[in-house]
Amino acid sequence: MAHALLNELAERDGLTGLFNRRTLNTHLERVWRQANRDKRDLVAIAMIDIDHFKRYNDRYGHVPGDAALKAVADVVERQARRPLDLAARYGGEEFAAVWYNPAPEELENMGAQITAAVTALSIAHLDNPGGKLSVSVGIALMRPSAGQSGPELLHAADTALYQAKNQGRNRVVLFRFTGADALLAPKRPPGAPEAG
Ligand code: GH3
Ligand code: MG
Ligand code: MG
Repeated sequence: MAHALLNELAERDGLTGLFNRRTLNTHLERVWRQANRDKRDLVAIAMIDIDHFKRYNDRYGHVPGDAALKAVADVVERQARRPLDLAARYGGEEFAAVWYNPAPEELENMGAQITAAVTALSIAHLDNPGGKLSVSVGIALMRPSAGQSGPELLHAADTALYQAKNQGRNRVVLFRFTGADALLAPKRPPGAPEAG
């Protein structure tokens, strides 16, 4: 019993209760293998980073900063609810969601639901344009294969996040890698029967 609790704690971040980075990496390896076996399955990662959070701590203090982190963690967790999904605190004020086999055309919208839900928290942040706490989101999608790895997917999501920051923050950027267009296109022609 105590042993199970310790194990559970070791998988989680103490402040937010989300899974920690180590658990995310383990989970990513697992679903990567799973998707590679089920040849058609896709894996997406969203990296979510609070905008100008250093300024937030500087103006409001570390305790309200921790409360803001918990509120954002709850938003991220609500967006990773399907069985093989996982939400984690990746480090500091950065979160990650693993989305197993998402509908590619829905990805941008899934990210936008996170940015919208965070601004809807209406946490005052007067040193952030817009006056409220916001996040930037970078998303990448791959069809796992022997030639690609989970860390590459993480890296791509991180690159997209960097672009979202550079483009003005409080937005979603989808990473476009070679071959992504094929993934983002419909799986079958409109009207074609669904494969059994
Ligand atoms: P950007 O929009 O580019 O992401 O700017 P930023 O200020 O959010 O990024 P930066 O990496 O410069 O600062 C991150 C800040 O997050 C620094 C630190 O004070 C704060 N932070 C990290 N972990 C915690 C935490 O556990 N609690 C609190 N209160 N603050 C944290
Ligand atoms: Mg930040
Ligand atoms: Mg950061």
